[in-house]
Amino acid sequence: MLKIGHEVVRPGKHYQDAEVTIPIPEELETVPGVPLNQREIDWYAREYPLESMNVTERASRDWANTQRDQHIEMREIRKEHEKLNRPLIMACRATGEMEPTAEPTGEDVTEQIKNKARELGFVEVGITNFDHRYDYKSKKDQFTMYPHFVALVYEQDFEPTQTIPSVDAEIVHSSTYRTEGAAALELGNFIRTLGYHAQVSGSGDSTGPYKPLHVAAGVGQQGACGYLLTPHVGSRCRLVGLTTDAIVTYDQPVDYGIHALCQVCQVCVNRCPGRALMRDKIWWRGVEKNKLYFKRCRPVMARYLGCGICMKVCPVQKYGLKNVMEHYAATGQVLGKGTHDLEGYTLEGKGYFGPGELPVFESNFFSAMPHGTEFENTFEQFKAKAQAAGGEITDELLQDFKRQMAGHLSNQTTDQLQMMDQDADYI
Ligand code: SF4
Ligand code: SF4
Repeated sequence: MLKIGHEVVRPGKHYQDAEVTIPIPEELETVPGVPLNQREIDWYAREYPLESMNVTERASRDWANTQRDQHIEMREIRKEHEKLNRPLIMACRATGEMEPTAEPTGEDVTEQIKNKARELGFVEVGITNFDHRYDYKSKKDQFTMYPHFVALVYEQDFEPTQTIPSVDAEIVHSSTYRTEGAAALELGNFIRTLGYHAQVSGSGDSTGPYKPLHVAAGVGQQGACGYLLTPHVGSRCRLVGLTTDAIVTYDQPVDYGIHALCQVCQVCVNRCPGRALMRDKIWWRGVEKNKLYFKRCRPVMARYLGCGICMKVCPVQKYGLKNVMEHYAATGQVLGKGTHDLEGYTLEGKGYFGPGELPVFESNFFSAMPHGTEFENTFEQFKAKAQAAGGEITDELLQDFKRQMAGHLSNQTTDQLQMMDQDADYI
């Protein structure tokens, strides 16, 4: 039996469930939350503010949609989701201007907000400062935003998640965003009845990556897969948040042992069909983490039903952190590691891959994906065509270039809704 360094006590998974105690072995202790270099975070936020990958990688996003749309069911899921999600995004965007519906009592309302959130179905809720260093550049002026951030986590159903990558998993992925968006709107309404403002940034329309704020609010730690791992459901969840000016008490980051557990586990790293996950942590924008290779992930996600294998094979997702930590403390082993039940998956058209087996892709599988913004990509194509024509820039080439650029500009003004993407997972 390993020596236990500390215990984490969390509310039970569901509203009014008994508290759970998670033992963290001493050898898995690192720091609460994540190792941070505040000066670097400040510097990057000032000199290189974050931007949504819906903007910076728009060319690959559009390409990925064309790939997904070749699968009829995937196309229908995407269309259906965008149709149902758009009113939710519009409703969320309207919340910033909504006035409270009662007079505040002046008392701290932290517990009321948390109880209501859990009653609405959120499995985790924490409160922290709304840190503007993580705002996307293009969204800075879009939201009024109040000073406190309520970090919310909604569970994605267990059964369909275990079939990843699959149509069923893709359906539940989208529907969870919508369900949590509606629940966050409801929580915003509740906060207004307490006498305070509440602005919801939900349903995929986030103001920035949620993970740094959720980690600061103590609801999880980032795993090697890039997802936030939460105590009850690991990465099998979707994140959302709201800001408020209510009188609240902040939570603190927690050391769940995940930062060190991932270095021992490595299941997602070893099972990723795109070899898109890093074994070792690096410092990135002032945070120490396993950084995902976006260029190796999106081509797989686009062609294989949204992939998500890194979520499916994570023991914390499947068994919960308490079971994983208790097993590790008792045996020094990662629960489920090496088993077909945890690590096996099927890729449509390629077959089943058990522990130690990975698919092989054709040579242009990764290089076929375009990069950069739609403008950068069009310019790169223009250059490549001119070079292929011996350096001659013909009128036809120029006309084509002008037409495409004009198309992008007009799309930019009409497509103001940056719809759901996997942004948060790429930061
Ligand atoms: S989604 Fe798939 S390709 Fe991307 S990191 Fe996860 S397992 Fe790898
Ligand atoms: S599979 Fe293992 S290494 Fe990957 S996120 Fe989960 S616990 Fe961490």
